[in-house]
Amino acid sequence: MTRNKEWLQRSRAAVWHPCTQMKRHETLPIVPIARGDGAYLVDFDGQRYLDGVSSWWVNLFGHNEARIKAAIRCQLDELDHVMLAGFTHRPVVELSERLSALTGLGHAFYASDGASATEIALKMSFHYWKNQGQDKKQRFVSLENSYHGETVGALAVTDVPLFSATYAPLVKNGWRVPSPDTRGARSGESARDVALRAATSLENLLTKHHGEIAALIVEPLVQGAAGMAMYDAAYLTRARALCDEYQIHLIADEIAVGFGRTGTLFACEQAGIRPDFLCLSKGITGGTLPLSCVLSSDEIYQAFYHDDVTRGFLHSHSYTGNALACSAALAVLDIFEQDDVLARNREQALRFDALLAPLQQHPRVRHWRRCGMIWAFEVDSTRSDFAQAFFAAMLKLGCLLRPIGKTVYFMPPYVVSEEDMTLLRDATLATLELLEHDAGVSAAETALP
Ligand SMILES: *Cc1c(COP(=O)(O)O)cnc(C)c1O
Repeated sequence: MTRNKEWLQRSRAAVWHPCTQMKRHETLPIVPIARGDGAYLVDFDGQRYLDGVSSWWVNLFGHNEARIKAAIRCQLDELDHVMLAGFTHRPVVELSERLSALTGLGHAFYASDGASATEIALKMSFHYWKNQGQDKKQRFVSLENSYHGETVGALAVTDVPLFSATYAPLVKNGWRVPSPDTRGARSGESARDVALRAATSLENLLTKHHGEIAALIVEPLVQGAAGMAMYDAAYLTRARALCDEYQIHLIADEIAVGFGRTGTLFACEQAGIRPDFLCLSKGITGGTLPLSCVLSSDEIYQAFYHDDVTRGFLHSHSYTGNALACSAALAVLDIFEQDDVLARNREQALRFDALLAPLQQHPRVRHWRRCGMIWAFEVDSTRSDFAQAFFAAMLKLGCLLRPIGKTVYFMPPYVVSEEDMTLLRDATLATLELLEHDAGVSAAETALP
């Protein structure tokens, strides 16, 4: 038995894997990873895989980044963790100061994952209105095909039936408004037209129900889990104005798009707006340690600042503001400065556009699009097992990609080279051909190791 096979079998017996019907792993392989090396993951038999999705969008600078590792090691010798209720420490103070300077928001509240950041923003928004004597503002507005995490509270604003339908009886109802997704353009409509049309639907809802609405939550510029749905910044600008007009909070969930992914440090910058709450996670530690954060405006903070304990935000997680995770996040911010990452990404994205042109022109590729360091397109395919078959075929060619339905996307670590992107392009072209000719083969068969 290869070492890969051994880990695969032990994992299947001992680990309940996320986002998975475990029974499918009777036929579909789990990929055991022994180590990371820059933009690559390496399995126990030495096979290398280009991490084309930055390990679910967290790994900004590749695996095993020396400066982040050094920061964590250094912090480990100083302080591993201290509870943040009644205590504080250097990395959490410095990180909070720097995030505040970068966003114009402050009062950083920490947790360890994205869904918890969503929960915190939703609870804070509701509690803010309660503290202001507006108890009726209890519900939330989210976009069609939104994704904000999968805890019970976050599912109220996550519109992915596969993840939420089963739990519907547990979930509080909110409102969904049309997505400004540019793919929804009617003939003759520009991306901006679609955005403004969607904003009009939002306005109609807010006009009627603003008295019951606490907040609107959005994924700025790119709805990731919806299949990298990209939209015009005009939607955000308009949404900001409407939220101001109708006294509704704007929560920007930049868990996936924050930290340079869309071309600016934060996506909201491209709309020239400041949200009331900003949720961050994923790339915040460059994929090393779990950390999330909610930044909020001064006005929000002041509404909780009171002699009455229950007007305070009595929410906590054991690992809130973990010192090791904060030190990793500080190292990530240092790298943005030291390597001039945003400028470098902008320039390299243009080169990659040219390099990927043969894919863009492929006859079965639709809706080719890019935002910052995210490339996405739909594949014209009749296979119902497209995502699984594509994933399996790419893996054999040394690339890790996970299509969402028939949307293929590249969200590589910022350290990918032209050779890496060439590999990704050529493997994708080869896989499109392969799947075309294998159209009759079932997912289970094509995916056998
Ligand atoms: C991944 C994601 C979340 C949830 O983060 P987890 O750490 O997986 O809980 C929330 N919002 C967006 C936009 C995300 O992409």
